[in-house]
Amino acid sequence: MISRREFNTHITAAAAGVALAQNTAFPAEVAEARGSAPASGSRKMRAAQMTTFRSPLQVAEVPVMAPRSDGAVIQVEASGICRSDWHYWNQDWTWMGVNIPLPAVMGHEVGGVVVEVGRDVRTVKVGDRVTIPFHESDGTCPQCRAGFQNLCDHGVKFAVDRTGGWAQYVIITAADLNCIRLPEGVDSLSAAALGCRFMTSYRATVHRGRVQPGQWVAVHGCGGIGLSAVQIAATMDARVVAIDIDDRKLAKARDEGAVTTIDARGLTADQVGQAVKEATGGGVHVSIDGLGRAFTAQQSILSLRKRGRHVQVGLTSQEERGMVSIPIDFLVNSEFEVVGSLGNPQPNYPELLTLVAKGKLNPARLVTRQIALEDVTDTLQRMTRFDTVGFEVITRFG
Ligand SMILES: [Zn+2]
Ligand SMILES: [Zn+2]
Repeated sequence: MISRREFNTHITAAAAGVALAQNTAFPAEVAEARGSAPASGSRKMRAAQMTTFRSPLQVAEVPVMAPRSDGAVIQVEASGICRSDWHYWNQDWTWMGVNIPLPAVMGHEVGGVVVEVGRDVRTVKVGDRVTIPFHESDGTCPQCRAGFQNLCDHGVKFAVDRTGGWAQYVIITAADLNCIRLPEGVDSLSAAALGCRFMTSYRATVHRGRVQPGQWVAVHGCGGIGLSAVQIAATMDARVVAIDIDDRKLAKARDEGAVTTIDARGLTADQVGQAVKEATGGGVHVSIDGLGRAFTAQQSILSLRKRGRHVQVGLTSQEERGMVSIPIDFLVNSEFEVVGSLGNPQPNYPELLTLVAKGKLNPARLVTRQIALEDVTDTLQRMTRFDTVGFEVITRFG
């Protein structure tokens, strides 16, 4: 466990890294039009390609593109399979303007080693071990300049603007901003987890949820996001209630520090909210929806005590298409807050990496299966049935 004071000390110690990330100036080429650069020499790579939505992926040899002058080539050592990839595979999020040209290579949780840098890259070096935030950003727009690279106005989208991480190499733009160097003690499995789910839950819990020691926290949905949130909140000495409909995930949540769990099978959103209130003496201070279905969002809100805070992390599927009704009178009468949380801006990485390097947080503990590139389809199909526990990560690419 870690005290709030110790937690704050870590954050203060990371301040130098924050300032560096916020103030780094980027070469003019960052502003140049994006697009595929020609292939770099004869380097080829194996990649799992989606050629048709919802169909098995095809592992093929494709050329490795050249990095931009501000970019880098990363050799992928570990690459996670996230529910966002599953959403892409299902052709979700067209209502948010996501239209993936096929064939496409998905994958956005990458840990690897820098093997080539463009001539304008200043701080990232060949041989650096790195993680890549899924929100690859330009560093120049108003959001980036304000330190919110997770909301970049011109972000490069994996699988849409470039090939993703289910391949032996990925090409990154604005490498000095988007390649986050790993300290000693943070391995590739952790780096992959830090590409999306774990770092997303970190921001949702610490920065958007503003969880304090001793508070009650509910986590709805114990997939990768949810289990990460359980571990992070428990590490902050919060008292965590985990909710799911799968015994294996509830058991894993208890392993990660949940003090109590609720099996939501057959329960309405109202009943889940009532069960959480009974377990916590009146409701939680912070409630996190890690899945993004109408019922999880609603049961999360109905779990709150007065002045509680609902944090929406999960994005919706075909059934909701982004629209979920919420109990608005309850919002007024209880003055609860609803906040969204997306990714984790680059300036917040030093504090997170320090906690991982010290062993206070352990994203790799959530990796339950290491697989080969050929196995990705199997994982996606089991995700349709919610039949994966924790993180499944590709570590065999050859
Ligand atoms: Zn930007
Ligand atoms: Zn993701």
